[in-house]
Order: sequence, then C-alpha cells, then structure tokens
Amino acid sequence: MKKRLFTPGPTPVPENVMLRMAAPIIHHRNPEFMEILERVHQDLQYLFRTTQPVVVMTCSGTGGMEAAISSLFTRGDKVITVNGGKFGERWGELARIFTGNCVEEKVAWGSAITTERMVELLKEHPGAMGVCITHSETSTGTASDVKALCAAIHEHSDALILVDGITAIGAHEFRFDDWGADICITGSQKGLMMPPGLALVAISERAQDVINNRKGLPQYYLSLKKALKSHAGNDTPFTPAVSLIIGLDEALQMVRAEGIENVWKRHEQLAEACRLGCQALGMELFSESPSYAVTAVWLPEGADWKQFNNTLKIENGITVAAGQDDFKGKIFRISHLGYYDELDMLTMLGGLERTFSMMGIPFEHGAGITAVQQAFLEA
Ligand SMILES: *Cc1c(COP(=O)(O)O)cnc(C)c1O
Repeated sequence: MKKRLFTPGPTPVPENVMLRMAAPIIHHRNPEFMEILERVHQDLQYLFRTTQPVVVMTCSGTGGMEAAISSLFTRGDKVITVNGGKFGERWGELARIFTGNCVEEKVAWGSAITTERMVELLKEHPGAMGVCITHSETSTGTASDVKALCAAIHEHSDALILVDGITAIGAHEFRFDDWGADICITGSQKGLMMPPGLALVAISERAQDVINNRKGLPQYYLSLKKALKSHAGNDTPFTPAVSLIIGLDEALQMVRAEGIENVWKRHEQLAEACRLGCQALGMELFSESPSYAVTAVWLPEGADWKQFNNTLKIENGITVAAGQDDFKGKIFRISHLGYYDELDMLTMLGGLERTFSMMGIPFEHGAGITAVQQAFLEA
C-alpha cells in the first residue's frame, strides 16, 4: 500500500530533495559546501522576508527556541509568553527555566490572543524584556495575527518579539523586517519539505546587539552569538548536518521557483479546501482562527479515535496527527504544510470518505471530495 503522510511535521519530502541528499558527502570546510551555505543563507532571507541574518543550526526547532531564549535573556528578565497550546506552552517552559521570571498568558485552545489583551499585558508588565508568541499553533491548528501583535508590542513597549514560526513559515504571510519581529524560528521538517534536523533562526539588528553585547547566561552549543559570528563567513560553529543543508538548498530553490507569495496563497487555498471538505462530511472545525498549515477537526460523533486512526492508517495508508492533552481522542489534525497540492487534498478527503464508509459513520457519499473540487474551482 502506498503510504501518505498528512502530519504537520515531519511532512513529505520531494524526490529531487531526497536525491540531492543521497549524493556522496562532502566536507563542510570545502569551498563547494561554503558556496551552498551562502546560497542557503540568501534564500532563507528571501523566505523570511529579511535582510538580517538567518542562522542554520543543527538541532530541531525546539533547539532554535532554546537558543533564542538563552542567548537574549538572563536570570530575572521578565518574559511574557502566550500559551494557547503545546508549543506556546513550550515558550513558557523555556522562559521559566532560563530566566525564572515568566508571565504566562493562557489562551483557550483553538483561540488566538487578541491585540487588546496583548496591550493589557504590556501595561500590566511594563518591564517585560521579551514577548514570545506562536504564529501557527500546531497542536490546535490556530493562527494568530502576528503582524498586528508586533505592531501593538512595538507601540507599547521595548520588548523583544520572539516568534515561533515553525509551522507558519512557508504557509502564512510573514515579513520579518516589515513587521518588526526580533527572532523568528522555523524547523526543516515543516514548511520546508525536509527531514527533521535543522532549526533556522532569523535575528533582527536589535536582537543581534543584545546577543553580542549583553553578558547573558552560560551557553555553548546553542549560542546565537557563535552562530552569528560564523554566519558572517558563510560558516557554522560546529560540524553542520551537511546533507540536510544540501537538501535545504534544493528545497529553497523550489520555494524561489514558485515564489513566496504563491506559496502562501497555495497554503491558504489548500487549507480552505480541507476545511470545506471536512465540514461537508459533517465534521466540525476545532479552531476559531484556522491555520493555513494544519486543519484541526473534531472526530465524527461517536467515532472511536483508535479505530478511526487504524482504519485511516492501516486500511488506507494515511497518517494524520492525533489531538494532544485534553483533546486526545477528540480531535485530529490534517497537514497541508509544505509539499502538498490540490490532488493531495482530494486524496485526503477521499481517504476520510473511505474510512467513514468502512466504519459505518453516516455521511453523504462524495460530499467531501465535491467540496474540495468546488473550493479549487472557485479559487
Ligand atoms: C514542531 C513544532 C515545534 C517543535 O519543533 P521540533 O522540531 O519538534 O523541536 C515548535 N513549535 C511549533 C509551532 C511546531 O509546530
């Protein structure tokens, strides 16, 4: 059976990317590799819409988050974090461990923080040194309005803005320079159509100044100061994941060829089609502010998650992501992040229809795939 991956990380890897990574290994101080890294650095600036450095780190996305917190802040620094799901929660855990002074704002799962609430928080905590937000909260399929949040944070404070863009980069419009973010992180196995193993971290001028000049916490491997210093010479402080960086070069050429705005548009359309297809099968959407990277839906009424997931996976070859924490067994999540197209959404909805049939869940045959087709016709 053909296996199809619909999880929001790892995501499917295109064949041309896999082939590039299968070539014999080269040495990372070899001019051939440094040329590739230089191109990757430039293409990452294109991806993040920035003229500032975007460093490549050999670690998963969380390593990039830890690098940011531990490179920018020190003990006692007050950091505001927004927790609307597993990944917002992670910002809080990191801030607590490294600064010991975290103000965590809890938001109901499936909702995004409003700018009004953000402004209140900044007024309540005028000394906040940083604000950590999640652009696309993968655990709930929820997008927040990062552009508006950045504008509000700048208007009301001098706090550094740290954006977890791990499932937003390459799915949602994001403009690092124009919006005034200070840090934005993504990971290779999300919108970049790559295997796991790299974190990409964009760093503003203001953040670079803090990183380079403020005496902070003890650090070694995840130091952004070290990463920045090497970046300037198209180098890395330690042996990088050479094969992954070569694969990333290929993946970024694909993003360039399609055009970043077209990439965002495609994700918006895939997400819209996925939502309409799921609703046409009688399922309800989980998020009030749906992400373009991942769609979270409630399981059909009365369906047992284990049986549903087994039918989808074992009988139909489709892997989706389960709900987490309180929503385990209640919701599931469909990815359309990275290497997906219109026919993939038809396949996904077709797979759901087959699963419904096999489990005896009532639905209107063909309604899901018809809704997907209709969405693409209208787009
Ligand atoms: C996947 C993900 C992470 C964690 O990245 P890892 O690569 O698993 O360390 C963090 N934030 C968001 C929004 C994610 O989707």
